[in-house]
Parts: sequence; structure tokens; C-alpha cells
Amino acid sequence: MYQARLWSVRHALALRRIYDVFQRCIPWLAPVIRLVGARSSEAVLQPLEQAAKGLLFDCRMCGQCVLSVTGMACPMNCAKEMRNGPCGGVRADGGCEVKPDMPCVWIEAIAGGTNIAGDREKLPATILPPVDRSRTGRSTWLQVIRGESGPGPLPPVGAAIGHAAASFERACSSGRFVVTVEVAPPDSADPAALLARARRFEGLVDAINVTDGAGGNCHMSSVAASAILAGQGLVPVYQIACRDRNRIAIQGDLLGAAALGVHNILCLTGDDVSQGDHPQAKPVFDLDAVSLLHIARGMRDRGEYASGRKLDRAPGLFIGATANPFVPPHRDRIVNLEKKVDAGAQFIQTQFCFDLPLLEDFMREVRARELHRRCKIIVGVGTLGSARALRWMAAHVPGVHVPEALLARIGAASDQKDEAKRACIETIAALAGIEGVAGVHVMGHRNEQVLAEIIVESGLKRGITTTGDGT
Ligand code: SF4
Repeated sequence: MYQARLWSVRHALALRRIYDVFQRCIPWLAPVIRLVGARSSEAVLQPLEQAAKGLLFDCRMCGQCVLSVTGMACPMNCAKEMRNGPCGGVRADGGCEVKPDMPCVWIEAIAGGTNIAGDREKLPATILPPVDRSRTGRSTWLQVIRGESGPGPLPPVGAAIGHAAASFERACSSGRFVVTVEVAPPDSADPAALLARARRFEGLVDAINVTDGAGGNCHMSSVAASAILAGQGLVPVYQIACRDRNRIAIQGDLLGAAALGVHNILCLTGDDVSQGDHPQAKPVFDLDAVSLLHIARGMRDRGEYASGRKLDRAPGLFIGATANPFVPPHRDRIVNLEKKVDAGAQFIQTQFCFDLPLLEDFMREVRARELHRRCKIIVGVGTLGSARALRWMAAHVPGVHVPEALLARIGAASDQKDEAKRACIETIAALAGIEGVAGVHVMGHRNEQVLAEIIVESGLKRGITTTGDGT
């Protein structure tokens, strides 16, 4: 099956042409379908379609075929069923984060899309809607014959529609170099541990990201932890992973978060469950980060759920997403970023930047497409205590890339912890000089003391006066 998939991607342009002719001709069968009836037609066409597309594309019969816009690679083979990939966990060899032996489906989709477009630069940043699960297993051919329109690409959301900016959004708009920090919620029903961690950064940062089951590990929920911080006058960024909740639960949580004073959200597809403490759990991935962004913007700007049902009051949100310029497919990461910006991302926080040349390449593309004028790019930085810890993270944390030169530098130091901190401070200084970088996002698992030192010693504290996310 996998060989057939590769063949289809290699011949994507020819298959796309055949597909276009097929789509034009197949409606001629409409009178026959009317005669036979929809139910009987489905019974005949569904197995035929499944056999043909299964053979050619390893098709999973989602019932809303998008092969013509995914380079003839079926996105339902993506282990996270992403309609807008790739995720940030692609391995250095191009393997899937979840199934290391399988090359990333979205790298195939980009290769097929490039075959169709004829040029990588012409790859469109198409935003596909989330999967309509009610159509799963049904024949797309029958829908085309009957003239039923499938779910087409979603339009870019455009500029934000009049909403009052809260403090983090105002800081980002001010043009000053912003600082955010990541805090992991505790394994406790007591908010004291969370507050103790977060309070270390009072007056040091513009906002505090609250992770959502990072790495697939269970902790206090990020919506609750964010609300606790907001209630104490701190400025949280509520991280939402699509891994654990479907679109109904997530939209409810967005409203709840806004009602509790949480105004900043970060939309993520999420890590796989296999590396976490509950590898037996069922991953949800009903949405991906791009479709979640689009939904969140619809809730805020149009005051409606994904279903189109109206809200009584729209949530006031500042909406962000992630990017990972440090893993394959490096050159094509920019298209994924553009999709996120078109889908509504107002700020971007990247994965750890340990490799400045890769970030510089990415920022060149960002500037060429003027994406830094449409969203704020905040680059992830951080430190770990030793070369051994860094090597472990590179090997076990999806999406983290650490160059050998940095490992060697830290490994050779007499005080590895101090050297790692110094390297982080140097990276921050370099980032501040790159056009289009709007700030840094400081990360380091349960390492708050060192992170606070980095912020102070980098001189990042200057200009930050805000606590409290009042609008
Ligand atoms: S690496 Fe990510 S995007 Fe690629 S197939 Fe695996 S889960 Fe999907």
C-alpha cells in the first residue's frame, strides 16, 4: 500500500488531470442514480470507490475527498488525521512523530502538491476545514454525481474585527521586544504550587504560557490553571491541544476561559500520547491547529460556533499558534505558517531555537511573504542543565532539534549548567537583532529559577510594566 501511495505522489500531476476529467464526466450518471435511488447507488459505488482509491491512494474513505488539494496523498493516513499539516513533530529523517517507520504523510503531500504546482514557490496555503465525521465511510463519487458540494477550502479570516485588546496584545502591538515564559501546571489540586511557579515571573514577562498536557502527560487542566493565574492578576496564555478534546468541548472551553478572564490562547495540534504517562489513552485530534484557529476567529469575530449557531456574546481573545522551523520539511514550513496566519493566528510562538542559521533562513522567508507584518513571531529559547539532558530532549521530545556543535560546546564546559545558560543568553541577543522577531518565549521544564535569571541577565525585563490582563 505504501508503495502505491508513493507512486501516486510521484504521478500527482497526471492523476490530478485524470481526476479533473473524471469529476467533469461523472455527473453524467445522475439520471441513473435518480432511477436506482441514492441508497442502492451508495451500496454499489462505495465498495467500488474504496477498492479503486484504496489501491491507488491508500484511501481511508473519509467521505469528503481532498486528494486534489493534498498532492494526491490521503491526509487520513496522517497519524493525527491532520487536514492541515505537517505537525511540529516530524523526525529529522522525515519520519512520522507517531509512527517512526512511516514517512510523514504531509511531506508526501507537499511533494505531490509541488508536482502539481510545478514549483515549490507556487504551493498554495490552502486551509482545509475539519473532517466532517458524519460523512465517514460514504462515497464521495456519489456526492459529486448528485452535485452535492463538498467542504471547500476555508477563506482567510482577514483582519480582526473590533475587539478590545488585552495587555499581552497591547504589548505585542507596541513594537517593543516581548517576553513570554512557559509554566507547567502542577500535579496537584492545590493552586499554591502553580502560583508559586508563576509568581517568580511577575514583572519579568508579558505573559505566562500554561501548557496543556505537554508531551501527553497529565497535569492540572490548562484552562483551570490559566483561570487561576488570571484571577490573581497574572497574564496567562491558555494552551489548547487538539489531542484531548473534540470541537464541542474545545469551543465550550474557549467560552469558559474568556468568561474567567483568560484572553490569550495558543492553538496546538498537540503531541502524540505514546510518549506520555498514559500511552493507552485514545488520542482525539478531531481538529488540527489550523482548523481550531479558524474556529476561534469565527467565535471572536463573527460571534458564532463552527456550526454557524450564534453566540450571545463573543469571547474577547488574542489568538496564537506555534511554528517549528527546526524540523523537516524546513523549506516548506513557511507554507504551514502562512496557513496559520490566514486562519487567524495573531502571534506565533516557535519551538526551542538552538540553531540560529535555521531560524535566520525561516525569517528570510517570513519577511519575503511579509508574514511578520500580519502576526508577531516570538521565538522559543531555553536551557537545560547539561549536554546529556539536551541530548535526551533531542532524542525523546518531538520537534526538538539540537545541533552537535552546541552539544559539544556545553559538553566541554567545566560548568555545563552555566554554559547552557550563557548560550541561551547569546541566542536571545542574536534574536533581538533579527528583523521580524517580535520577542522570545522562554522555556525550561520546571526550571523557573534559571529562566528568571536568563530574563534578567539578558536585559529583557526592561520596559515590562504590565501585570493583569484587564481589557
Ligand atoms: S509527522 Fe505529524 S503530520 Fe506527519 S504524518 Fe506523522 S502525525 Fe501526521
